[in-house]
Amino acid sequence: MSQYDFDLFVIGGGSGGVRASRIAAGYGARVGVAEEYRYGGTCVIRGCVPKKLLVYGSEYAHAFEDAAGFGWTVPKPTFDWATMIANKDKEIARLEKIYHGLFVNAGAKTFEARATLKDAHTVVIEGGETVTADKILIATGGHPSKPAVPGAELMITSNEAFHLTELPKRIAILGGGFIACEFAGIFNGFGSEVVQLYRGEQILRGFDQDIRDHLAAEMKKTGVDLRVKTDVTKVEKGSGGLIIHLTDGTTLEVDCVMAATGRKPNTDGLGLEAVGVKTDEEGAIVVDAYSQTSVPNIYAVGDVTNRMNLTPVAIREGHAFADTVFGGKPRAVDYQNVPAAVFSQPTVGTVGLSEADARKKYGEIDIYRTTFRPMKATLSGRDERVMMKLVVDAKTDAVVGVHMVGHEAGEIIQGIAIALKAGAKKAHFDATIGIHPTAAEEFVTMREKVREPAKV
Ligand code: NDP
Repeated sequence: MSQYDFDLFVIGGGSGGVRASRIAAGYGARVGVAEEYRYGGTCVIRGCVPKKLLVYGSEYAHAFEDAAGFGWTVPKPTFDWATMIANKDKEIARLEKIYHGLFVNAGAKTFEARATLKDAHTVVIEGGETVTADKILIATGGHPSKPAVPGAELMITSNEAFHLTELPKRIAILGGGFIACEFAGIFNGFGSEVVQLYRGEQILRGFDQDIRDHLAAEMKKTGVDLRVKTDVTKVEKGSGGLIIHLTDGTTLEVDCVMAATGRKPNTDGLGLEAVGVKTDEEGAIVVDAYSQTSVPNIYAVGDVTNRMNLTPVAIREGHAFADTVFGGKPRAVDYQNVPAAVFSQPTVGTVGLSEADARKKYGEIDIYRTTFRPMKATLSGRDERVMMKLVVDAKTDAVVGVHMVGHEAGEIIQGIAIALKAGAKKAHFDATIGIHPTAAEEFVTMREKVREPAKV
């Protein structure tokens, strides 16, 4: 028998923690887990899942409008925020139970409380109980951060956006990243007046430039008042709402200000410093390729390590950790060609390198790009355009980046990511026969190289 209460103690019951627990338990480890809030973590409780449900809900606005061109007479639709939120909450509660069940079914002992480190093998559970473990996994995730401006306390974040009692008539969303673009689409679809304020030149820094420009133009067409090179200096209460002071000296009045200005790792107060677990300047836990921290028996996975903050990546890190430490199969996660989608309206799907990054890495590259009006828009009359883009290493013909802005871009890019993972060449794309009529078929019919940036 081990000298410890558990072979593995996991702090955090989110995506990374649950996968690590299940796999480790499958290898025979005695597992304990502590979760201070709700099982499921950010993704299930206040991230990907409720967000996607709100995206689905808000997209109906476009569908009702589009239906007329196909002969439908739709009475003026009305929307009830309270129903949307209540139904979403019911689904999240169902998933939370399932997540808790995943731990229980794996044989893990669960503690519904905050846990902190006392020493390298000892965890203190809030309330006083102390447990010991051979290995400890920190999977505590992250939290939204607000800009350091006066009045920041008046802003909400995505955490609160999921629980607003009323749909704001006017909302300002700060930031140009995933969350800002996604919530701009959500609130816009539900009928709020949305102004999105981004400090930089163009939203989605780090994405392909054509994709950024195209998305920005399309979002504006849907009614989002997107203002770039615009930052907030102060927020204060006014007589009719919240007053936002902008860097250009002007002000805006809204009912709600949402900060979507990045997330920070949840490392405060965990006892990391005392135990010797190193963190970086952002507060993220520093780990090696096997998710091992500076203290050899302590590991960390997911957003708390701030490597690639995506749910499927955290799951893969948790799995690889368990295989490595409890399965005798050392495995590092491969971060190459990880696909991602921004569930903005329209959606962005991306895998591999942007044109600029590919140019830096490979020198000579070929670009294939198409923009077109989707077939549905011909009858709906909606003013929208899809963009698709292939980035190809000219020397080897390897496709090194695939990007799309358009309906179901996430679904489409997921399949293409398999091709990139398999090392697909442009010749493979050319040899593939399209599915007609789809938007996705354009990915296998692009023949002309382009030299100029896209015009938007
Ligand atoms: P991001 O890092 O994507 O974006 C943060 C945005 O806020 C950037 O536009 C950034 O600007 C801006 N910003 C940061 N600090 C300030 C500040 N002090 N003042 C003004 N603007 C600021 O973070 P998100 O919060 O949107 O999302 C966090 C992460 O969660 C994402 O990076 C992603 O990994 C993950 N996520 C994934 C989703 C998905 O897969 N669909 C959905 C949601 C989140 P700048 O560019 O100038 O730095």
